Amino acid sequence: MSGATLLKESGPREVFCGLTSIVWLHRRMPDAFFLVVGSRTCAHLIQSAAGVMIFAEPRFGTAILEERDLAGLADAHEELDRVVNDLLARRPEIRTLFLVGSCPSEVIKLDLARVSERLNERFRGRVTVLNYSGSGIETTFTQGEDGALKALVPLMPDSKDKQLMLVGTLANSVEDRLKTLFQRLGIEKVVSFPPRQSIDLPSVGSETQVLLVQPYLTDTARALKDRGAKILPAPFPLGIEGSQLWMKAAAKAFGIGDDLFNEILEPLVTRAHQALKPYREILSGKRLFLLPESQLEIPLARFLQRECGMELIEVGTPYLNREMMNKELDLLPENTKVVEGQHVEKQLDRVREQNPDLVVCGMGLANPLEAEGISTKWSIELVFSPIHGIDQASDLAELFSRPLHRHQILNKKQLTHA
Ligand code: SF4
Repeated sequence: MSGATLLKESGPREVFCGLTSIVWLHRRMPDAFFLVVGSRTCAHLIQSAAGVMIFAEPRFGTAILEERDLAGLADAHEELDRVVNDLLARRPEIRTLFLVGSCPSEVIKLDLARVSERLNERFRGRVTVLNYSGSGIETTFTQGEDGALKALVPLMPDSKDKQLMLVGTLANSVEDRLKTLFQRLGIEKVVSFPPRQSIDLPSVGSETQVLLVQPYLTDTARALKDRGAKILPAPFPLGIEGSQLWMKAAAKAFGIGDDLFNEILEPLVTRAHQALKPYREILSGKRLFLLPESQLEIPLARFLQRECGMELIEVGTPYLNREMMNKELDLLPENTKVVEGQHVEKQLDRVREQNPDLVVCGMGLANPLEAEGISTKWSIELVFSPIHGIDQASDLAELFSRPLHRHQILNKKQLTHA
């Protein structure tokens, strides 16, 4: 049973929208294209971050559409068709086209599912067109990956093979390493979703055991379950302990004995503990406040408390899926304050009141907090870094010790100059 105290909060939010996931998804699947149907704001967010193509025209201005609503919509369909035609003519290598919805009311009025259907008919055999929402009204940034993967699930072929499926984007090097470890344990068929090419989708069926790599894939997990797959309950593969328990869940499902499991993992665990030691010295006893953004907060808090000795003041998370998070919540210390949702002003007041040593937060909040002398870690960095698995535990800890170390150096300099 979890000893965490679960609270909910609502109010103004300060998080990235689901469009941000495109930054890592388009790198993962280079044969896919993410066409954002959005405004100039969306264009600025994504173009600067990922260099993907944006469908954004000033004629979507609300005033014009209010005046000539239906005609405006007809124009929007035509314009979208034109952009897609031009794009596919210029980029014949695109095999999957994601139409990604956004916030503006003009975009919400467009039925992107119907647009995809129509385009699929036209481009059948050449490119598959899918759609999902990356809108900031409906999604926070990691949920964009959930939407994209969920859209791919119906395209996966049926399978009767006994196989392990790792679900969630991983750095390629980490993925290779984990697959090798599972194969050494005797699990012969290990597949990944998303794949490295959007058209190489793994098959799925009742003999598919799923290990979630990321904690924010609620809808994808549900869609895979509907296809017959079994979701293995486990903590997430962050840190030594989490990664071990995550692998253990697969070992158990595939009937692998403890002796072989320990024989293969123990040398890695010993080495990882050694590598973690210097960072534990920096992090131990430091007080941590996690603001909600990526949904990685609970697994990170568990790792930083149990393996690095940090003290948890508050663990925020944008959404809390109890079923997926149960194994993580069980590992948190008694009475850990876990807050689902956000009222950014109230949370910042609590941060100031508690004066933590480190705050994990979005980029927009980091600068003002740093200016007040509070060390911060951007949560977005954690979705771009190879942090999964036993071998990566020290790198993960290093990401958190870096801002504390920098803070110490700055303090020393200030003392010397005083
Ligand atoms: S929050 Fe909405 S308008 Fe802003 S970039 Fe994201 S999808 Fe576009």
